[in-house]
Amino acid sequence: MFQLIKNANLFAPEAMGLCHVLVAAEKIIYIGAHEPVLDDILDVEVVDLAGASLVPGFIDGHAHITGGGGETGPASRVPPVFLSQFTQSGVTSVVGVLGTDDLTRNTQSIVTQAYGLREEGLSAWCHTGGYHLPLTTLTESARADIVFIDPVIGVGELAISDHRSSQPTLDEFLRIASEAHVAGLMTGKAGILHIHMGDGKRGLELVREALDHSEIPARVFNPTHINRNKSLFEEALPLSLRGVRLDVTAFPEGHSDPGWSAAEAFLQYTKGGFPADKLTISSDGGGCLPHFNEEGEPVRMGVGCASTLPETLREILSHKVPMAQALAPFTANVADLLKLSHKGRLQQGKDADMVVLDKNNNITDVMARGRWHKRNGQTQIFGTYEQS
Ligand SMILES: [Zn+2]
Repeated sequence: MFQLIKNANLFAPEAMGLCHVLVAAEKIIYIGAHEPVLDDILDVEVVDLAGASLVPGFIDGHAHITGGGGETGPASRVPPVFLSQFTQSGVTSVVGVLGTDDLTRNTQSIVTQAYGLREEGLSAWCHTGGYHLPLTTLTESARADIVFIDPVIGVGELAISDHRSSQPTLDEFLRIASEAHVAGLMTGKAGILHIHMGDGKRGLELVREALDHSEIPARVFNPTHINRNKSLFEEALPLSLRGVRLDVTAFPEGHSDPGWSAAEAFLQYTKGGFPADKLTISSDGGGCLPHFNEEGEPVRMGVGCASTLPETLREILSHKVPMAQALAPFTANVADLLKLSHKGRLQQGKDADMVVLDKNNNITDVMARGRWHKRNGQTQIFGTYEQS
């Protein structure tokens, strides 16, 4: 079946003006100002957007697709994330990670979950490993996981400067980064080391030492949660000038204290004139977010959700940031970091992953791999067990 999307105010993410888009077999096969003429013999579904914004589907580079958590006992393990939790929020591509619990959840389970999400219509990948050393892997090494297992594109989230970390030494840290890098070279995959940053006072010391003392390119080191506290954020900013791509977490409202919200982090980064292509924003969806009382005891468990991505985009846009600039950390920048060349941009030949925004920048429609998962605000496709 063909899908003709008419009268879209298209952001590729660059502003392209009013365009018509033709989709077939999961791909964008035409974008242009002229409406394509299609023979009656073809089965064509037409959607007229009447000037609504059409933007690339979001790539969530950090989500606990198997469910994360487990930090306050077995009952605190978060269940796996359902398909529509991604698609409702405009996420059409996701990268799964293991965090604290890289024992009861392992590379086997995350690879299988990625395959499951693919079967349900999403685009999904994952990293191998998790917070700890020795790395959780499926084969004998992280390098072999990346080389031999299709969805595995990097290593992480390896924890540093955190009380839950395995406290890797510089040599161990470099060894893991080299595994990711070499496997990336061998496959054309991202080959990154995705690094969970804790609140510890050592901050990004290991990353700076790695840049100073090794030959591994800066692009391999990809710290996340850099907005979790203000001094870590300050420390992270100059690394972007050395070629490190920084990932900001879109914490739910009220959770960014003592750091910055993702929108605040984006605005400061942009105002500071740091390289626009080196910033990405991810959700930490499916991760556990414990609420602590004054004694530091967990009183209630929260769960990260992909919905913080469109909320962050709306917040950024409310500060009069041009759409193309606001979209980049959710789309093109993530595709470039992850070497997903068929993702993150609306161009002929790329995958048909797109999101329609109304005039208030709320998501009304979502297409993933050429199928409408959301239409006029209603979920069209649910995950296998979602409604049972
Ligand atoms: Zn983390």
